[in-house]
Amino acid sequence: MTSDFSTPAAPGGGTGPVLDGNAAAGEFAGIIAGDPTIATVRCAGCGAAQAFGQLHAYMGGPGTVLRCRECEAMVARVARTPRGTWLDLSGSSSWSFSPAPGLA
Ligand SMILES: [Zn+2]
Repeated sequence: MTSDFSTPAAPGGGTGPVLDGNAAAGEFAGIIAGDPTIATVRCAGCGAAQAFGQLHAYMGGPGTVLRCRECEAMVARVARTPRGTWLDLSGSSSWSFSPAPGLA
């Protein structure tokens, strides 16, 4: 598949030091309505479910990449380019969000 998203990010994406997922919250917050740190993300590769903040964040490349803490597979990435914002969730099988306080 050819897409603009595959161009700026290296295959698999992610360079630089690994941070916890909370470091990437700001990058995802503008795309996913609300606070992404309340999400539980299931890895499509190994099936592990983990809190957004437990994912490994790589923020040194052209995009922000989140990797599974169990198998290091890419679960999500976001890249902001002059032509738009690209969100790739293909490495995750589900995202579940806890109800907001007071709505449960
Ligand atoms: Zn995994």
